[in-house]
Amino acid sequence: MKKCTQSNKYQCKICNKIENLDLYPISNNIVTKMIREQLCYECAFWLDLKAHPPKNSYIIKGKYYVFSEWERLYNKPKDAIKSMHIYTTDQRVVRSNKIRLIGSIPKHLQDILPNNAHLITKHLYYKLRDVAPGYQCHSMGCYDRYYCHWYDRTIEDKHGAWNIIPRNYIPGSEQCPIYIDQQTINKQIEN
Ligand SMILES: [Zn+2]
Repeated sequence: MKKCTQSNKYQCKICNKIENLDLYPISNNIVTKMIREQLCYECAFWLDLKAHPPKNSYIIKGKYYVFSEWERLYNKPKDAIKSMHIYTTDQRVVRSNKIRLIGSIPKHLQDILPNNAHLITKHLYYKLRDVAPGYQCHSMGCYDRYYCHWYDRTIEDKHGAWNIIPRNYIPGSEQCPIYIDQQTINKQIEN
């Protein structure tokens, strides 16, 4: 660690910024962390959030959000209600219409606090939500099986496939009520 001449100044051990403790006269858990771990305020703040994440917090496109339970808002016009529908990296769907933005995660901390959810459309949210989490389809004869999000391909490891999908088959034609094209999910979560 680089030493600075003034006693209350030091270099942050993560981002190398020179920090001055004189700017933080009030002690709180962030300041305590700064001193203990030789961090600047910004690094201490975000690492503290990582260590003690609020309930229902999500990182989407480098921004840190805290979601509250969905509320029925009768009196507000529909377009005044800001809502988010998300698909988490552990494959859950969550929505909220009461969202608190904590802030944008600094670039140098985005590896430590990576995205853990993606925005999806309301339509995809409902389609995913209506099927039990972790559900895996074992319909080895379904023509949609290789396109569908729910199909568990490992079922074919032992016995192979029941049939061959015709070359001119149009995905979705089986009309399965829970069918979700995996490409639809991929497209939404890569944005
Ligand atoms: Zn720092």
